[in-house]
Amino acid sequence: MSIKESRTDVLIVGAGPVGLSLAIMLAQMKHLFACIYDLNLGRKRFFRQLGVLEAITQKGRTANIGFGAFYQGEHLYDVSLPLSNSSCPYYVGLEQSETELILTARLKELGVEIEKGIVLESFVFKKDQQVAESALVSSVEDKEKERISFIYVVGCDGGHSLTRNLAGISFSGENVNIGLTLCDVVVKTNLKKIPSGKFNDLRA
Ligand SMILES: Cc1cc2nc3c(=O)[nH]c(=O)nc-3n(C[C@H](O)[C@H](O)[C@H](O)COP(=O)(O)OP(=O)(O)OC[C@H]3O[C@@H](n4cnc5c(N)ncnc54)[C@H](O)[C@@H]3O)c2cc1C
Repeated sequence: MSIKESRTDVLIVGAGPVGLSLAIMLAQMKHLFACIYDLNLGRKRFFRQLGVLEAITQKGRTANIGFGAFYQGEHLYDVSLPLSNSSCPYYVGLEQSETELILTARLKELGVEIEKGIVLESFVFKKDQQVAESALVSSVEDKEKERISFIYVVGCDGGHSLTRNLAGISFSGENVNIGLTLCDVVVKTNLKKIPSGKFNDLRA
């Protein structure tokens, strides 16, 4: 079976929030000759740079004083938000799936389509060197293979990153032995009371 060949400057593996954000930055940068990014950018300033802050704020739930956590009717803790020095002095809560939809729409606006259903399988290394020059990918649907040559490859493929493993980069840290279930749900509650503690003073 013949393998399709293509090439790109930057191959982004993974279209989660990190991969989508990088794709937007690169799509925007084609209009710039030089670009310096502040590594300490807050998330909201970062979203503003990507051109999605308004959409994220509109879709998400915002709080400008703080928020509280409850479990089975019991008040667990409060988090206050003393963000007066921030240029975006509020908190936004939004499901990852919604964040991804907004980032995907912004990318489309910039003329970039994501290739969904394509899985990275391995890298092809330059002869006698440890430098990867292309990636072998395959389509989930029809198993068709493609070889994509690149100048840079960026692993945005999450916690179990194959890109990182293939590049031989270790993942430091330790395992946390707790189970988590991630789901998007509508929660019905009869909670009536305003979070206690600091917020009462601020008439939240
Ligand atoms: C329990 C829990 C709840 C959370 N709730 C929220 C929330 O409500 N809102 C929020 O904003 N954040 C939430 N987060 C944080 C959020 O999940 C992470 O910050 C985010 O997923 C990190 O994004 P990422 O792009 O690095 O990785 P990921 O989101 O993991 O994206 C990786 C992408 O790479 C793709 N991929 C993997 N392997 C390959 C391969 N071989 N080839 C091609 N593609 C591949 C995957 O399909 C995936 O799309 C939560 C995290 C946890 C653990």
